[in-house]
Amino acid sequence: MNSNITSTEPSDDWGDISDAELLDVQSEHLAPPDRSSPTLGGNVGDDGQSLETTEKRIDYLIKKWPNLAHLFERVKNRSTALSVPNQSPMERFLKRHLSVTQLCEQSWCEVKMAYGFIKPKVRMLEMQNTEVTTGASIHLARELEVKPNVVTVAAVTREDREALKLINMLQMVSALETGQLVREFPVFGVLEGMFFMGVVDELNRSDSGELVLSELKTRSHNSLPRPAQTKGHALQGSVKRDHLLHNLQLDPNRVLGSDLQTHTQSLGLQAVTFRELLDHLLVVLTCSNLHAIDKLRLEYSHQSSGKLIGTREVAFEEAQLRTNIRGYLAYWRGERVPQGVEVEEAWKCRMCPYEETCDWRRDRSQRLMMVNKRAKLECPKSDDPKPNGSNLNGSKLGVEYR
Ligand code: SF4
Repeated sequence: MNSNITSTEPSDDWGDISDAELLDVQSEHLAPPDRSSPTLGGNVGDDGQSLETTEKRIDYLIKKWPNLAHLFERVKNRSTALSVPNQSPMERFLKRHLSVTQLCEQSWCEVKMAYGFIKPKVRMLEMQNTEVTTGASIHLARELEVKPNVVTVAAVTREDREALKLINMLQMVSALETGQLVREFPVFGVLEGMFFMGVVDELNRSDSGELVLSELKTRSHNSLPRPAQTKGHALQGSVKRDHLLHNLQLDPNRVLGSDLQTHTQSLGLQAVTFRELLDHLLVVLTCSNLHAIDKLRLEYSHQSSGKLIGTREVAFEEAQLRTNIRGYLAYWRGERVPQGVEVEEAWKCRMCPYEETCDWRRDRSQRLMMVNKRAKLECPKSDDPKPNGSNLNGSKLGVEYR
């Protein structure tokens, strides 16, 4: 039996949601169904609505929920610059932890990920596109395949919601030990001083007893991805390997909600507080015969047909991975500005929703044009291709930010 969560109170974990989510979740959970109130479902600035309307909407929310005023003010005063002085992205976007998915997005294009916070409406539209929603449906269908008996439990507090994840983990650990396959396994821990949360798509034991982590990737094209895409996916799998129980920033003495207590009792668990449940999980993990992940595997499935395209095993190179993560965290800690894609990967820009407005792409295009112009003036034949496909400037021919 696995647990599904319903929430009877809005999440107070506002620090880890985007501005768009903040306004939308507030609308969904907090606003009364008052048709005469200002429109609450939209976002700020980049959705084409006038500033006046947006301000009215935010002022309404501040009045309604004064304890969250600082967060709504944040939306109102948000800068559209890619970085702001003296404020790290962790502070600017009110992040307390990072998700593994965020690191994957960062490895694809850091500027695109930053725009996701700065221009949340565009990101929301991207998340609603057919490709993403189909991928989510396939994930859900696969999850339900191995969770035939799902029960719904009402979560009252953040501790309740995290407690349900722990309960699911407990059940999945037992399932793994008996040789069953589990899906959507929650993981969390500290990596390079940063707290991460995430979900592993699939864990199972191979015939030879190895613990195999599989990540499902859905693709609109019926073919395996380019190496750059595989690189990002490999990172996701590798990071999740390093999960540790630490730094949840929750109240360990919080008494679990009554619905949750009934659920824990039905499973034979003696836990009234979050701490008791966490202690129980730690004991189970310590005593379990599960060890580190032996193999990382990426499975690619075709979106329209649902058929498997192929699988790739990914090498786990811890030293390289940690170097990459330190580089990513330097951005989050405000030690450097975000970096977009280099010209060799400019093909990513063609499928990016920020292509038309991206400052990084515009600056790089202008710089490239100037370099090309100068090279032509200095050496008119510099565009003659060399055998390796480069011109005399070292730029790959035919690769541009277009
Ligand atoms: Fe990144 Fe290119 Fe998109 Fe800009 S247009 S955010 S550089 S992928």
